[in-house]
Parts: sequence; C-alpha cells; structure tokens
Amino acid sequence: DKGLAVFTSGGDSQGMNAAVRACVRMAIYVGCKAYFIREGYQGMVDGGDCIQEATWASVSSIIHRGGTIIGSARCQDFRERAGRLKAANNLVQRGITNLVVIGGDGSLTGANLFRQEWSSLLDELEKNNTITSEQKNKYNVLHIVGLVGSIDNDFCGTDMTIGTDTALHRIIEAIDAIASTAYSHQRTFIMEVMGRHCGYLAISAAIATEADFMFIPEEPVPVNWQDALCTKLAQERSAGQRLNIVIVAEGACDREGNPISAEDVRKVIDARLKHDARITVLGHVQRGGNPSAFDRVLACRMGAEATLALMEATPDSVPVVISLDGNQTVRVPLMECVERTQAVAKAMKEHRWADAVKLRGRS
Ligand code: ADP
Repeated sequence: DKGLAVFTSGGDSQGMNAAVRACVRMAIYVGCKAYFIREGYQGMVDGGDCIQEATWASVSSIIHRGGTIIGSARCQDFRERAGRLKAANNLVQRGITNLVVIGGDGSLTGANLFRQEWSSLLDELEKNNTITSEQKNKYNVLHIVGLVGSIDNDFCGTDMTIGTDTALHRIIEAIDAIASTAYSHQRTFIMEVMGRHCGYLAISAAIATEADFMFIPEEPVPVNWQDALCTKLAQERSAGQRLNIVIVAEGACDREGNPISAEDVRKVIDARLKHDARITVLGHVQRGGNPSAFDRVLACRMGAEATLALMEATPDSVPVVISLDGNQTVRVPLMECVERTQAVAKAMKEHRWADAVKLRGRS
C-alpha cells in the first residue's frame, strides 16, 4: 500500500509526459497507489484537487504530447518551511511517501531539502494535532528520486536530459526552413538559440546545419571576433555559397566576458560586409512540439527506473537521479550532481570557462 506521487516542476520540456506515464504505470504494475501532483510544488502545498490518484488509463495517449499535462510552476511557498509543512501534511493524509520530481537543479534541491526536513515536519504536524502519532510512525521516511527535464542539456551527471533532443530537432527544422529562403535571397541569418550556461544546443545545431560560425558560452571568442567572423563569412561567399548561417547561444560572450547578442553580430555583418543580415530568435519554439522518439524512449526508461529506485530505497539510502550513462540508465547521487551543476553555473558566471568545462565532465 505504498503511495507514490509524480510531479513536474520548473521549466517544462518535451518528454515530461512520457516520464510521468512511465512512473505511473510502473508504480501501478508493482502495486503502488500512484498520484499526480498538478502545478509542481504549488499543487503539493495547496493539496485538494491538485493531488489526484492516477490510473493506468489516465496516462494513455500522452506520450506524444509536448509540455507537461500535469502542469509545472515555480512556487515561492515551498521555499518557506511553512509551505513545506502544508505540503508534508497533504502527502501524509494520502499516504504518499515516495516522490518522483521531474525538473531542473532547483526543483531537485527543493526535494532534497524536503526529504531532510521530513521527520521534523512530521514532528511539528503531530504536535499541533494535524496528524496522529500512528500516521507519524507509519510515514516517517520520505523517499525521493529525481529526473532531469531540461532542453539545454545543462545538468551534470547525465549524458542527456529529457527534452534536449527534441529541442535540437526544433532548431534544425527552423534553420532548414530559413536556409531555403536565405539561399534564394543570398542572405545571412543569425539564429539565437537557448543555452545560458551550456552550448550543447548551439554546437549540435551548428554541426547539423553546416553553420558558418557559432558563439557559445563555454568557449568565448577573442575580443576582436569581428575580424574572424567577417573573414569566414566572406570566404564562404567567395567560394560560391549563397547564404550564411551564424548561431548565437543566449549566454555567448567574448574572452573579457562582454555578452555577444545576435544584434551585435548583425550590426557587424551589416557594417563590414554589407550582407542582408536578419535575426531569428527561436525562443519558446525550442520548448514546443511533440517529443522526438529519442526523448520518448529516454523518458520511458528513466521514469520506469525512477519508480524501481523508490521501491528499493531504504531509510539510509542516498537520494538519486536517474541518468543516462553511455546507453545505460543508471542511478547517481542526486546532490552530487546538483552541486556540480551549480558549481558549473557559478564558474560560468565568474568567467572561469575552463573550470566550468572541466567540472561538467562528460555530456
Ligand atoms: P528548475 O527546477 O528548473 O531549476 P527553479 O530553480 O525555478 O527551476 O525551481 C523550481 C521550484 O523548486 C521553485 O519555484 C521552488 O518552489 C523549488 N525550489 C527551488 N530551489 C529550492 C530550495 N532551495 N528550497 C526549496 N524549494 C526550492
């Protein structure tokens, strides 16, 4: 009679539904009562209809849908102990002591804190007679497992995060579409793609679309990047190429840390080369649309493994995230990955790019 709840939190990504479906179905398969928590931590704090029992059929026909059908949110209340106390009560009242959190490093940090505080939250609930001592004893350990939904592939400890592959498909579709019109009019297109700390989308898109130049956060260009850019673009044109594609990741900058925007790049091309240069900011298109086959399968594997990890957890086991290592889904310590991810973000902010790349390791 174990209760397991799944929720999505923070920024959405394609494939989250497939993960929710796999968690729920595996939970039912192994004899758990499965629940959805709608709107992330907000739903956990608010309780009521936000926490609903999930059935086998309730997760049918969602695997192909983008976004998250159970909603995601950012939640200030959960950052305060008072909010977490309400959340704990809502879970205990339903007998839920297993959580699958699907989100980014923030959501995973919150879950870890909640787990650490759990027994003191239950003590407090018992003291003010919100729960009985039987409930406190029965539900005294909270198990959590994390799955990483992020289109940027910016999480340490996994080769791929859920949503990245689909985002890359969206980018490539958009660039292919633009390339055909650019070809007709001999234009230069500057594409801004997501990735504040991580150039994975920009690099992969640049390779896959034969881009001429790219700007990524991890490898800042020299301060006189304008010369290299113009030389390269002019070279391609004189070799007979009718269009140029330049990809700029959101977090791009030069070696002194000055941000480089798509508009900065356009101005240089316009002034020096007199190309007809246009900007396309892909924005939320990258988060949209149906998940790719890869993301669906990845999320299914990770979701099923998350439920199994919860079933096997003991009171002293370390919380894990399910990650992709080579082609294996494996369990890795959650806080180690979160801390490394946050250290990478800090190093990037402080312009210690080489440190950031080293810290990130494989991916
Ligand atoms: P992401 O999970 O995508 O990194 P956020 O950092 O915005 O996104 O976190 C999502 C939610 O997780 C927050 O709105 C908050 O409710 C919860 N959260 C994040 N960090 C903490 C924390 N240190 N303590 C408690 N809750 C947190």
